[in-house]
Amino acid sequence: MTKRIGLYPGTFDPVTMGHYDIISRAMALVDRLVVAVAINRDKGPLFSLEERVSMIEQIGDDLREKHDCELVVVPFENLLVHCAREHNATVLIRGLRAVSDFEFEFQMVGMNRAIDPEIETMFLMADAEYQAIASRLVKEVCRLGGDVSRFVPPHVEVALKNKFKSKET
Ligand code: ADP
Repeated sequence: MTKRIGLYPGTFDPVTMGHYDIISRAMALVDRLVVAVAINRDKGPLFSLEERVSMIEQIGDDLREKHDCELVVVPFENLLVHCAREHNATVLIRGLRAVSDFEFEFQMVGMNRAIDPEIETMFLMADAEYQAIASRLVKEVCRLGGDVSRFVPPHVEVALKNKFKSKET
């Protein structure tokens, strides 16, 4: 039987419980999930590409225990559909939050489909508890001294605090 391979792309700056929830749901649907971390210079990420990849890898063991699915984390800088082809993925996974995500995602699907009609995009929604979480807001809350422990895994909370501490000095 051919393996169903999914690709979940994003900036993951940093990975949140919202991403975790989407990765977990996707792993229940495919045989192999490739989490593709975009360099995304335009977004001026707080964490380096290596740090973002490593923070996702650190939640891998926990997720692999829960699902009978291979999980790999890779960096990517090329076109998304080319990255999907490179990894033999036939389905792109994206998370949907409120209506604000819809417009952009709608355009992305159209463009990606025009470039490669064989790659399907699948949208998943996180558990209600995690739906409002956005990396951008988590960074802002942590920078201003708020508690982000409900929004990110423990090692990410530590990394965030260290990042802002080092920026102060
Ligand atoms: P991007 O720059 O591609 O938007 P992000 O890391 O912000 O990168 O998000 C990656 C994907 O995860 C996107 O599809 C986004 O909608 C989804 N996502 C992020 N946070 C959540 C959340 N709390 N619930 C559901 N999906 C989410």
